[in-house]
Amino acid sequence: MKVAGFLCKIDKLGRIVIPKPIRQEFGLNVNDELELFTNENGIEMRKYRKKCLFCGNEEIPQLLEYKGKIICENCKNELENL
Ligand SMILES: [Zn+2]
Repeated sequence: MKVAGFLCKIDKLGRIVIPKPIRQEFGLNVNDELELFTNENGIEMRKYRKKCLFCGNEEIPQLLEYKGKIICENCKNELENL
């Protein structure tokens, strides 16, 4: 993990502000979703990208949503042929 040199305070509701240079660097915009991960070093956050539940494919044109789950065209075709 790279130290970015910014300090963030947590407010009463548990919110933090991600500094603008970091939002710009990672292409974070209003209403984007972030995924939080924890490990022995602390907390990491990543911009949430829809991906196939089965294979992790993130190619947007290929992704379909079914009953709230994301599936790619390839996995959909494989399931159809079971
Ligand atoms: Zn897939």
